Amino acid sequence: MAAANDRLGSSFVKILKDTHSSYGGYDYTFVDGDPPDNYICLICTLVSRDPHQVSCCFNIYCKSCLDKHRKKNSMNGTFSCPACRKLLDSKSYFKDGRLEREIKALKVQCTIEECDWKGAISDIKAHVMACPYRMVDCSLGCGEKICYKEVEAHLSDCPKRIVSCQYCKDEGPHDFITSSAHLDECSSYPVKCSNEGCEFTQERFWFTHHEQNCPKAIVYCEYSNLGCDKLIKREEQEKHNEESMKEHLQMAIKRVDTLQTKCAGMKCAGCSSSQVLKMNNSSSYKYGGYKMMLCVYANGHGKGKGTHVSCYTALVPGEYDDELGWPFEGEVTVELLNQEEDENHKKLIIKYDDSTPEDCKERVTKTMSQRWGKAQFIAHSDPGFQDFTYGFLGPWYFRVSARVTSKTKPWLV
Ligand SMILES: [Zn+2]
Ligand SMILES: [Zn+2]
Ligand SMILES: [Zn+2]
Ligand SMILES: [Zn+2]
Ligand SMILES: [Zn+2]
Ligand SMILES: [Zn+2]
Ligand SMILES: [Zn+2]
Repeated sequence: MAAANDRLGSSFVKILKDTHSSYGGYDYTFVDGDPPDNYICLICTLVSRDPHQVSCCFNIYCKSCLDKHRKKNSMNGTFSCPACRKLLDSKSYFKDGRLEREIKALKVQCTIEECDWKGAISDIKAHVMACPYRMVDCSLGCGEKICYKEVEAHLSDCPKRIVSCQYCKDEGPHDFITSSAHLDECSSYPVKCSNEGCEFTQERFWFTHHEQNCPKAIVYCEYSNLGCDKLIKREEQEKHNEESMKEHLQMAIKRVDTLQTKCAGMKCAGCSSSQVLKMNNSSSYKYGGYKMMLCVYANGHGKGKGTHVSCYTALVPGEYDDELGWPFEGEVTVELLNQEEDENHKKLIIKYDDSTPEDCKERVTKTMSQRWGKAQFIAHSDPGFQDFTYGFLGPWYFRVSARVTSKTKPWLV
């Protein structure tokens, strides 16, 4: 309707167009050229909407334009015709039904430029509601304005569409579920171990376990408490232990020596047929009246020096020596106790018999007899000894029992 626009050229028309108000005439592009002049409202200069004819000059106005004009200019119920200036009142204009039918049949274009819909004015309202080109707000609230025909496509791609996390299956808006805000917390997100050379990948929830056990993790040698300050890959501990067995032992023995000094002088707690001695060096004990001393050398003695734990017993002066039979004959059983479970104790049987040198089994009145036992009791390379099953760092627990075969008078003691 270029003609009408040119004539008026006002912002009023533009507002009408923008607001789709039903006030004033029809501002459409007419498909079959400019409509006849007698369809034009002389107030708004558009094709008349709800056309009314005045009784004075028979001109045509939109009803809304005429009502507005009357309200603005009415004095004592009368107002003048905008065209011929004659006085009119509310009964001087009538609806032109025939003209309205003609106007409503005029073919117009959809108001949206991209849309090529053409149809009667009577149908355009229904079309506009469904026009594929009209812009609508995204119903998911992403803030985008979308062309009506693209709504479907947008909803399946909208950043606010609800999706479930491919890892943990939690549901939420796509832009959140796929963001680091979720993925950095997602308990099922696959985390790859960052330790060099480790290809391990696991759900975040379980990954902590791997972190604490990763064979490629750099850790301190398990004997760091003994003073080894080597940093190694966890998986290399065993190899390192093999290579550094000597060093580790030296460190451990140093520790034992320190402890031995500290705990030396511990005495046997009582006298029974089998007793457990908690000791770090040597302890004395009595059996059947005989008083003996248990001597243990952590770093070895004689043939066991530096390679073995040596273990001996020796006779010491006791208060019942006068009543006992000499030389002492029998068997002393010494067990270094496994501190983790009641099996695999390290057992040594020291026999006092004909093969025993005299100075080991004869009565002594001062200090003690010669030691009798085994220089190579437990090798330092013994695995149980290495992993401290027997309390390498002390204290050690020895169980000692004896069977006496010498002629004695045990009822006296
Ligand atoms: Zn008139
Ligand atoms: Zn009008
Ligand atoms: Zn359209
Ligand atoms: Zn959206
Ligand atoms: Zn997740
Ligand atoms: Zn790892
Ligand atoms: Zn080490």
